[in-house]
Amino acid sequence: MMDSSRANGPGVRSVIWLQGCTLACPGCFNPKSHSHEPRFLVPVETIIERITAIRDTVEGVTISGGEPFQQSRALLRLLAGLRGRTSLSVILFTGYSMQEALSVHHGDEIIKTVDVLIAGRFVRELRTAAGLRGSSNQVVHMETDRYRVHDIEQTPPAEISIDDRGMISVSGISPPHVPEAASAAPGGSRDRRTESTAGLEPDERH
Ligand code: SF4
Repeated sequence: MMDSSRANGPGVRSVIWLQGCTLACPGCFNPKSHSHEPRFLVPVETIIERITAIRDTVEGVTISGGEPFQQSRALLRLLAGLRGRTSLSVILFTGYSMQEALSVHHGDEIIKTVDVLIAGRFVRELRTAAGLRGSSNQVVHMETDRYRVHDIEQTPPAEISIDDRGMISVSGISPPHVPEAASAAPGGSRDRRTESTAGLEPDERH
């Protein structure tokens, strides 16, 4: 999880990456996120409480992966909790098409709780890496009138941030490659791709 990002949708947003994906898009930028073998288990309630505590500092929440719909029950609980306790906007990435997402258990309930769904496999040959779409086949579904397509397209493609411990974070639809040696801080912190403070691997997605 990342508390604050400007490269994952309009405004300042918290970002949550859900581990596990079996879709195996060739060229996926984040193969480390594919395993469903638990690495860092974080209770849904813990995430809801954390987002609720910082809700005045962000405009919304972006959920990515991995494939979020492959943890659909937990995803629905997370979204219901956020909707119940905050007025934050929600953007959800999925490698599934809209039709596939609707066929997943709880899929329709999940989609009803989001403002924007960005759907479809990453296709390497169609890579665009702009406007929150990894490839041009992906579809931006505006599920509410909270945002316009223009708002989504204005999202910066990448960001690099360095916290007060020297930890380097890269994020966005086209994050720069940060060599491990260059990203290692004196205290041993590393790129969030390989070391996340919340235990959920962030990275480029879909
Ligand atoms: S791009 Fe997304 S949907 Fe495709 S394999 Fe990677 S994580 Fe899974």
